[in-house]
Amino acid sequence: MSPITQDLSQLSLLALFAHPDDEGFGSGGTLAMLVARGARVTLVCATNGDVGEISDPSLATPDNLAQVRQEELRQAMAVTGVPDVRFLNYRDSGMVGTEDNNHPDSLHQANPATAIGQLVNIIREVQPEVVITHDPSGGYGHPDHRAVCQHATAAFHQAGVADAYPEQLSQERPVWAPRLLYYVGFPRSNFQRIWQKMVEMDVTPPFASQDIDSVGTPDEDVTTTLDVTAWVDTKIASLNCHRTQIDPNGPFAQLPEEMTREIMGTEYYTLASPGEDLLGAL
Ligand SMILES: [Zn+2]
Repeated sequence: MSPITQDLSQLSLLALFAHPDDEGFGSGGTLAMLVARGARVTLVCATNGDVGEISDPSLATPDNLAQVRQEELRQAMAVTGVPDVRFLNYRDSGMVGTEDNNHPDSLHQANPATAIGQLVNIIREVQPEVVITHDPSGGYGHPDHRAVCQHATAAFHQAGVADAYPEQLSQERPVWAPRLLYYVGFPRSNFQRIWQKMVEMDVTPPFASQDIDSVGTPDEDVTTTLDVTAWVDTKIASLNCHRTQIDPNGPFAQLPEEMTREIMGTEYYTLASPGEDLLGAL
């Protein structure tokens, strides 16, 4: 049986990310491939991305950006083939060190036990075999990415413990221990390649040269690579639904298309739990 048609209807995967669009670049091809092969995929987005950019003022205002970005994510997941999209409705905490970090509704200020309990509840309801989430670096250190990684890791371990959040337990929400936890990564060497290319092209990179050796996932931490070349068109179409976040004049848009497609054609994970590397075997 060819890997593209291999039936995955027994597989359930839960993807936990911080913002609408976080799912796209690192795991959009994986999600498209899994649903095309019959897997059940649920996406949870912790915040509404409401302090993100607005690429074009005709698309949204700061007041309605949360609603607009929720709708963008639903459209993106319709393109990918994921109908089950959920929001925890925290406020985006903004970049590290900004005033938005202190907003009482932000994920940054959330009580960890409350946030972990919300994720435990979803794990017990959805009963996934596999959980994927941000890697501990948060990619470029975004406080919401790091928080979701910490809370998702805790929830992965606690959902299977009867003493954790026992008030949630019911016939529909039994104790449930997912088999595998993966962190979605973007290797540091890829950031370095992109940085180098931008410098060559006289485009100002979004990360400073002194940071380029600390952003992303250290290459040696990547355990699993997936060839998603066959899903790059779907991945790009899905990413393009996040219209408020796409800057046609931004540095990433200046990269040669063949380089962008080549980079998007591989997705990278770190297996963060014991167990057989199921994604790596696909
Ligand atoms: Zn994000």
